[in-house]
Amino acid sequence: MRLDVISIFPEYLAPLQLSLIGRAVRDGALDLAVHDLRDWTHDRHRTVDDTPYGGGAGMVMLAEPWAEALTEISDRAEEDAEAPADRPVLLVPSPAGIPFTQRMAEELAGREHLVIACGRYEGIDQRVVDWADERFEVRLVSIGDYVLNGGEVAALVMIEAVARLIPGIIGNPESLTEESHEDGLLEYPVYTKPAVWRGREVPEILLSGNHAAIDRWRRDQRLKRTAQVRPDLIAALGADALDPRDRAV
Ligand code: SAM
Repeated sequence: MRLDVISIFPEYLAPLQLSLIGRAVRDGALDLAVHDLRDWTHDRHRTVDDTPYGGGAGMVMLAEPWAEALTEISDRAEEDAEAPADRPVLLVPSPAGIPFTQRMAEELAGREHLVIACGRYEGIDQRVVDWADERFEVRLVSIGDYVLNGGEVAALVMIEAVARLIPGIIGNPESLTEESHEDGLLEYPVYTKPAVWRGREVPEILLSGNHAAIDRWRRDQRLKRTAQVRPDLIAALGADALDPRDRAV
């Protein structure tokens, strides 16, 4: 996957050099580039913002540096592509966007090229989003119902969620299958050694070696936990998602 991130604080994306994603970049599984939006400004102050039309507080990001950055990045990707590629996906983090979910992460993990435009201040001039539609599949995406100072943290969240689903990036792909949000339920509680820690014992069933019973216990725990903290997820399950034993939990 090719991944381009544009920000006025490229240093904010430094954690992408660490851990599994850093390794995927070094191994070539992920072709990642972080760009400084100010490289596409042409004035002495490298200006990227101005006051909002209509008045109001804060500043708005200028359209022109974004358009130049996005044009160059998509042209470069087109030149590098060996065969005609799909339109790149442009993710624009915004608290006014559609919610980012595990389903969206799964879908994005199958795409060839993602570009993330990290806004700051009051956001990016809306005309960039409208214009970019000619070259990109544009999505305004929110990582939650709260307001951050900029899109960089949202970009890190989305990249981490997407990259770990790309085959070959996570060491053991089985660890992806039983995770929270994979099938609409949250994960069961997990334990490791020692079997007794500060007087607290690991649930006996996990030491039994009876895999069918452990699977059932884990499923029960998932159902109980989800019903307790996220009843909305239980309500959203399809009619055939629960068997009669599940309903008894
Ligand atoms: N004025 C904007 C509004 O009310 O929708 C908020 C702008 S916010 C201060 C600055 C930038 O942070 C946004 O352009 C976006 O890139 C990012 N951001 C803030 N909250 C976000 C969220 N929940 N999800 C994704 N991006 C967010």
